[in-house]
Amino acid sequence: MGICSGCAKPLRGSLKINQAGQVYKSCPECSGKVGYHVFYRLEDFGDRDMGDGRIIPQSWCPACRSDALPLVPPALMCK
Ligand SMILES: [Zn+2]
Ligand SMILES: [Zn+2]
Repeated sequence: MGICSGCAKPLRGSLKINQAGQVYKSCPECSGKVGYHVFYRLEDFGDRDMGDGRIIPQSWCPACRSDALPLVPPALMCK
């Protein structure tokens, strides 16, 4: 937990960055484990249906939600 060793922002919560038209989102779980932000492409997170008509991105990456090995390698890191 705590703050990122790379950018000094909190590791909890989702950081989104836009790079060359591609949006990346940090996984709070992956980031908390390693101590710096770990980003995946936004579309790799999948969508969550909130049940009230809103569709939002999942907050955790697929690997953290399923406890499986990472399905996709991190795209970027704050290292
Ligand atoms: Zn960071
Ligand atoms: Zn993760």
